[in-house]
Amino acid sequence: MKEKKASLLLIYTGGTIGMKMDPENGTLCPFDFSQILDEVPELGKFAYKLDAVSFDPIIDSSDIEPAIWQELADIVSRKYNDYDGFVILHGTDTMAYSASALSFMLEGLAKPVIFTGSQLPVGAPRTDGKENLISAVEIAAAKDEDGHARVPEVCIFFNNRLTRGNRTTKLSSDEFRAFASPNYPPLAEAGISIKYNDSAIRKPSDWNSALEVHEKLDTRVGILKIHPGITLEVVGDILCGSSTRAVILETYGSGNAPSKQWFLDIIRKAAGSKILLNVTQCFSGSVNMDIYANGKALKESGVISGGDLTTESALAKLFHLMGNLGDNKEVKRLLTENLRGEM
Ligand code: ASP
Repeated sequence: MKEKKASLLLIYTGGTIGMKMDPENGTLCPFDFSQILDEVPELGKFAYKLDAVSFDPIIDSSDIEPAIWQELADIVSRKYNDYDGFVILHGTDTMAYSASALSFMLEGLAKPVIFTGSQLPVGAPRTDGKENLISAVEIAAAKDEDGHARVPEVCIFFNNRLTRGNRTTKLSSDEFRAFASPNYPPLAEAGISIKYNDSAIRKPSDWNSALEVHEKLDTRVGILKIHPGITLEVVGDILCGSSTRAVILETYGSGNAPSKQWFLDIIRKAAGSKILLNVTQCFSGSVNMDIYANGKALKESGVISGGDLTTESALAKLFHLMGNLGDNKEVKRLLTENLRGEM
């Protein structure tokens, strides 16, 4: 029997991959999607059906807003039954935030949603954009022997590596190796062939269950990075303002913060009405508030452990849970559960 051609939808949001130099002012500006495809004729060598949609306007990913995540989730859900996989071209600056957000917004995913982009525009002679796009497309089309998607997850493909979206963080502003997944192994590596790390890939509990899309997001989250010399005034502005329902504390090492009385008092006060989530400011590793007295004091003051969540994933998880739940207690309970392989 002849195998059905894989069909993929490319969604172009913007980013360096599709930018070119404006000769007038010397800055990189986005250009049209059809021009990107002209730059990558290799895509035509795959026996896939490739369709593309482009955002209008296309944007530098520093302008990404939750409304764009909602639009992306909406496109994936409307086109879900028409395609075998989705490739999202996106700027690198906020790609890890967007991939984290989509991972929470799309529940029960049975098809790949692969983010990719590049450090050099696709038209530049040494571009990394072609390799990234071509491999992302191949991975999005890959099936296992049962005909199921090989990687039914929201992922990032960059510099020969496929990593889980909600585990990934931007590592470098100028190296081709722009992303890392410090606490979880790559889901695939592209060399001469693409090697899939099958035991690390999440599969849906039921391949036939419908995709559930959670579009509601509550963005009332602040981030407080603890640092030596932090003052009561700075902490108070972020923890006690009326504009936040939750605050992510980016703490030292395994989840530690100052043990000064004023600091613990204000944490305890804020934890009475808000959700305080502890993530480490270290590149890798995890929060464990039972190791040091300073961490334990935070735990006893009502701070929730974010385990090994990245800050990007912590933010996305809070937006998602708070958007869907009115009760802070329930949000706190689910924060400690692994919902999409994020911890
Ligand atoms: N500023 C660009 C963006 O995030 C950077 C990139 O794509 O690499 O859209």
